[in-house]
Amino acid sequence: MKKYIIVQKYGGSSVANIARIKAVAKRVVAAKNSRNHVVVVVSALGDTTDDLEALAFNLSRTPPDREMDMLMSTGEQISCALLAIAVKEMGHDAISFTGPQVGIQTDKTHTRARIETISGHRIRKALAQDKIVIVAGYQGVTDEDEITTLGRGGSDLTAVALAQALKAKVCEIYTDVNGIYTADPRLVKEARKIKVITFDEMLEMASLGAQVMQARSIEVAKRFNISLHVRSSFSKEEGTMIVKKNEKLEDVAVRGVTCSKSDAKITICAVPDRTGIAAKIFTEISKVGVSVDTIVQNVSHTKQTDISFTVPKSSLPKALQAAKAAAREIHAGDVLYDKNIARISIVGSGMRSHHGIAARMFQALAENKINIEMIATSEISVSCIISQRHAEKAVRSLHEKFELEKVE
Ligand code: ASP
Ligand code: MG
Repeated sequence: MKKYIIVQKYGGSSVANIARIKAVAKRVVAAKNSRNHVVVVVSALGDTTDDLEALAFNLSRTPPDREMDMLMSTGEQISCALLAIAVKEMGHDAISFTGPQVGIQTDKTHTRARIETISGHRIRKALAQDKIVIVAGYQGVTDEDEITTLGRGGSDLTAVALAQALKAKVCEIYTDVNGIYTADPRLVKEARKIKVITFDEMLEMASLGAQVMQARSIEVAKRFNISLHVRSSFSKEEGTMIVKKNEKLEDVAVRGVTCSKSDAKITICAVPDRTGIAAKIFTEISKVGVSVDTIVQNVSHTKQTDISFTVPKSSLPKALQAAKAAAREIHAGDVLYDKNIARISIVGSGMRSHHGIAARMFQALAENKINIEMIATSEISVSCIISQRHAEKAVRSLHEKFELEKVE
């Protein structure tokens, strides 16, 4: 009888200490039976990756990317070995592998490499011997045998890519929350678990601040149509299914509210209103490798206008330097910045067909006297940049406005 394959990924908090590793070992063993094989992907224990990063930054403000990958990839090597030891201790056969050992080939972009191919033949061989296979997440290897990592949160990507390469039947993402919620339950106590969400909605929520899964992993899941089950490693409760849109899944106008505090706003004042000026500014900023998000430029009635845009907070120093240089060159005025902003977003695929959603969002904010500094929209989301001190209130009022507490 041909067995099917289950891929399970356990995040850092699920393997944070010995007791939790033992609990995961039990779950893994329980998932394996005469009809299926189990392939497990693990993240590094708890905050290990952050701790490793901090060590490097004690030595250098600009540690080389190659060495960072050598360093950061070690966290997952520890957890996969420990989990294999725990499983074997329970009397079941298991074997751990690093990303390079199972042939996860990537491009050469250190610290955020892309997976190109997965040979996986060592996994297949071990499965044929009926072993539980445990793979270190977040890492791969280039065609020149250099170790790479797949960007923070990259173990999700390892799991999705392995599910695709091995034609797995199920891909489960175990984390420390019960699934994806209509809003962060720490902010909104009425937040509800979402039973089913589309790849597009999840992708949008992940990029707009929902911190449950790495956005790139969802892109890949969408491309290959790999349904994901995000659930808690601490309970048996069903989590959230992330799927391609199907007939059964109702197109709701708003599926969830997100909040991100990871951006900063830059404003270039008194920019001359001439053709090619925006091109000039944003070319300078892209040259220093910063990706710009929301941009607002007003129509000018006075031959001068202000341009504001957001950048990741971590890129603010670089972006500011480039913006100031560009401003001097085009004879613009001051360059201002604000780190205390929040991006509040509503996401839902029904926005494609419902109208008045953005208006209701603005009403909710106005009713709470929250000023909107910038607005950005996509096909299935609306985001407002507001002052960070209103962030929590904004999320709560939007959750209420769109009656998300009624989701069942
Ligand atoms: N350990 C890595 C990180 O913390 C990868 C992961 O957890 O998925 O980013
Ligand atoms: Mg981690």
